[in-house]
Amino acid sequence: MAFKTPLSFPVFEGNENSYTQEVINSGSIATSGRFLDRFELELADKLKVHPLVALNSCTSALHLSMILLGVGPGDEVICQSFTFCASANPIMYLGARPVFVDSERDSWNLCPELLEDAILNKISKGRKPKAIVVVHLFGMPAKMNEIMEISKKYEIPVLEDAAEAVGSLYRGQSCGALGQIGVFSFNANKIITGGGGGGALVCQDSDALHRSKYLSTQARENIHYYKHKDIGYNYRMNNLTAGIALAQLEQLDGFVAKRRAVNQRYRSLLKDIPGIEFQSDSEETSSNFWLTAILIDKERTGFSNDELRIELFNHGIETRFLWKPLHTQPVFNSYMYYGGGVAAGFFERGLCLPSSVSLTMEDQEMIAEIIQEKLIKTAT
Ligand SMILES: *Cc1c(COP(=O)(O)O)cnc(C)c1O
Repeated sequence: MAFKTPLSFPVFEGNENSYTQEVINSGSIATSGRFLDRFELELADKLKVHPLVALNSCTSALHLSMILLGVGPGDEVICQSFTFCASANPIMYLGARPVFVDSERDSWNLCPELLEDAILNKISKGRKPKAIVVVHLFGMPAKMNEIMEISKKYEIPVLEDAAEAVGSLYRGQSCGALGQIGVFSFNANKIITGGGGGGALVCQDSDALHRSKYLSTQARENIHYYKHKDIGYNYRMNNLTAGIALAQLEQLDGFVAKRRAVNQRYRSLLKDIPGIEFQSDSEETSSNFWLTAILIDKERTGFSNDELRIELFNHGIETRFLWKPLHTQPVFNSYMYYGGGVAAGFFERGLCLPSSVSLTMEDQEMIAEIIQEKLIKTAT
């Protein structure tokens, strides 16, 4: 159904129309062209990250990253459990096995202590993990300092799934630039979009970056006929998507400022409601607050996340549960898991509130009012 107030809705108020027209008029809509080049350069420049390659999705970017990191059949890859399935699916595409690790309570992301426990336990069994997948959920940076120290200590590369964290900062540096490889998503509901979708892979190692571009274009040799020495993929971004993504990128600063303002307004509107806790920045982080996420303590509010979801749904307001931890998913629950019930507890209590750039103060006041009324209703 179409919601009156959707969870995260794109705005196209910049150069989207003119760039799209320009691409169509030029006829260069394939996987090369002016906008593709510009988007790659300007994204890397804006985020102050290493050179990057633009792809058709973040899932493709995760898949290529794992290939670059040498993940293959029988390998094990550590993955934050509290995430969207796309963080782990490419592990399966490659015939490897995920090892899931719980979150910590500050950032809600990968717990460094449990990560080290998992690594030590795996090493003691002679099965050193091939890579670590860390995710910056809802835009909130994970504890990257601690995680990178562990990565260095055990010489296991970090793949940062920054799909939701375009424009988020950790100690002043962009998410996606901190690990050996970082990936971004420009899917329709992310903070900036390529329209139909899109992704990018950023890598410190220029040979690896080159290889990912090659693999993303069917491993085609750069000669006058189609010669193939490797199995490739059709993963490259096209020039039309790049035009839209570039126009969106030009508005990124404003989008981040608005999403942060939305988050701030929820905090002040809901501050007197007992039993609601926000995912919050630390001194080291500046989340893009792609989505504002809260935890509801039913003991104190009198209503659960699902009861609030239904109430808001009945008012045409879209909310969404937090990601169901992957170790509890039917498709993954036979794989190893290190941790307790932190992520599972977030799932049981959490809710993402509407966080679109276009959300108005009135929309937010309405949401706060509905929550307030729910509180009164359940108290009496
Ligand atoms: C959206 C998302 C992805 C996948 O991105 P696509 O561009 O849709 O393939 C991967 N990881 C996380 C955490 C995401 O939120």
